[in-house]
Amino acid sequence: MNPGQGQNGANGPGRDSDIVNLVRQGDVRAVARLIRDFDDGAPSAVADLKQLFPFTGRAYVLGVTGSPGVGKSTLVDGLVRHVRGLGLTVGVLAVDPSSPFTGGAILGDRVRMQRHSTDEGVFIRSMATRGHFGGLSRSTRGAIMILDASGKDVIIVETVGVGQDEVDIARTADTTVIVVAPGLGDDIQAIKAGILEVGDIFVVNKADREGAERTVQDLQSMIELGRVSDLGTKDWTPPVLKAVGLKQEGVAELWAAAAGHRAFLHQGRSDYYQRLARLKAKMEIIDLVKQGVVDVILKRLDETGELEQYLDELISRKTDPYSLSDKIMARVLAE
Ligand code: GDP
Repeated sequence: MNPGQGQNGANGPGRDSDIVNLVRQGDVRAVARLIRDFDDGAPSAVADLKQLFPFTGRAYVLGVTGSPGVGKSTLVDGLVRHVRGLGLTVGVLAVDPSSPFTGGAILGDRVRMQRHSTDEGVFIRSMATRGHFGGLSRSTRGAIMILDASGKDVIIVETVGVGQDEVDIARTADTTVIVVAPGLGDDIQAIKAGILEVGDIFVVNKADREGAERTVQDLQSMIELGRVSDLGTKDWTPPVLKAVGLKQEGVAELWAAAAGHRAFLHQGRSDYYQRLARLKAKMEIIDLVKQGVVDVILKRLDETGELEQYLDELISRKTDPYSLSDKIMARVLAE
């Protein structure tokens, strides 16, 4: 194999099978390039993912989410060290939609990269490209598949904040860890607003600070209230752990709790998690179909100039948005 292959353009001869094979061999440059191409919406990357799909489903995906500053990166760093100590390989995807493309996330990436730069068993990448083709959930799901096919044992997906995107991304993980710091403050509202349900494990980090025990208790009572959801009663009681990420305290316990949850999922006896798995599958496919349909329709309307004409009609109030959307749908479905 030509070692310079990874530098070639996306349409180089034999590219597809090459990159698929390279990714499967765990080639770091091929993995990085395919993640980038998929993020850019390259059709060849979609074809590559189709080929890689049969080789996915082996990795354990751990989501870590929480507000900025609670110590997620520190904990993830600790987890990487711990997991490597167990002889497992790991991929980290740091998802930060709030970062500008060339801003914080990339800088953070460099700092972390340096820490693990000599370790081939670790792959770290920032995903910060909101607004790119298909959005962040699609890019992140693709990156997870690529890392999975490349043979990583564990994939840690770190997301910042608690918006809908982050909840969706958290849902793609097998186990979702929610990190908070003592004195929940604003986090309480955010947690109540939707993140509670997706949490399988809660961690009160910075337990060296005052108020950690109180926060643990607050969380425990919220979890008890949040166990019943649209999907039924959650038959896994999320543990609430304490950690001091800076000192690597509580990291081994966090990993043990994650392993416990993974074992629970593997038993496959939980109705709740079976329904959750169906919901995840449904969300993923609906997302993709929606995106695909919108892309096809917009491309066609754009090419024929109809889009501009329709917009004129709308702005001059010759038509209303509902009739216009009906008209567009009827036309497309008739073809
Ligand atoms: P993130 O934004 O959630 O990823 O948070 P970081 O991991 O970047 O941590 C934010 C700040 O909290 C940094 O200055 C860390 O050094 C600090 N920090 C992380 N873990 C702990 C901890 O357990 N105790 C204390 N006191 N500080 C911590």
